[in-house]
Amino acid sequence: MHWKLLRRLSALALSALLTLPPAAPALASGETEREAFLAELAALPHYQEERAERYLAYLGSGEYTPEQILRIVNTDSDLTPYEDMVEADVSYGILTLVNKHRYLAEYEPEALSALGQYGSWGSMEKEARNAFASLADAAAADGYRIWGVSPYRSYERQRSIYNSYVRAHGQAEADTYSARPGWSEHQTGLAVDVAVRGRGYDAFDGTPECEWLKEHAHEFGFILRYGEGMDYITGYMYEPWHYRYVGAEAAAVIWENDLTFEEYYYYYVIGDEALPEAALH
Ligand SMILES: [Zn+2]
Repeated sequence: MHWKLLRRLSALALSALLTLPPAAPALASGETEREAFLAELAALPHYQEERAERYLAYLGSGEYTPEQILRIVNTDSDLTPYEDMVEADVSYGILTLVNKHRYLAEYEPEALSALGQYGSWGSMEKEARNAFASLADAAAADGYRIWGVSPYRSYERQRSIYNSYVRAHGQAEADTYSARPGWSEHQTGLAVDVAVRGRGYDAFDGTPECEWLKEHAHEFGFILRYGEGMDYITGYMYEPWHYRYVGAEAAAVIWENDLTFEEYYYYYVIGDEALPEAALH
């Protein structure tokens, strides 16, 4: 069914629901609460009537702000990780979304290119690799030593990494910081973990290089993929070292509007919202 039609139909269903007389006084206050809650959300950007019931699941939880509830439900982040899942749509190329609901299975990038002088080992998808080289050169010109320490990882490599974390810390803990095999963004060839040259990626946070990258990565088409305090959408704790190539236009919109890649993907890649004007100049 066409999305617009679906939206119109669910709007009708919802308005019918909201105009029903309350069956009993006890229900009346509950209905009012639901109406008020939805009205508050509907006043915000990106409200989607067809997701009203899913927003309502957060009524009274007190855990998230109204904005956060929209961000969660609109990006399907309210679904169960690794259970409610679809295969990632790689036809979107550099805008392919991979997360705990969208998996790659045994996908391999078509054109890998060695990091060479820009990292300790490995390769990235060619366009991403060249953009990373430009980024590292620009950083070096400003006096910062940004170095790729973990670029493309195959399904098999991710399998051995994840299994070693599970053996050491158990699956629940491993899932908070390591992707399951077939579910890692590194398998797209578009992601890279970075470090200050000569140090580990886990010592990257708070360095001048880390700050430089936060300010400039988008100019080269990269985004900080797992931002601080964003795990309720991305499914991963803050990873200051993990950057993802999405191309300059998407990176600018994401950076200027403080979005997660999930939001960008749902609103502007598979959704039909108009891109924010600021990024179009
Ligand atoms: Zn990473």
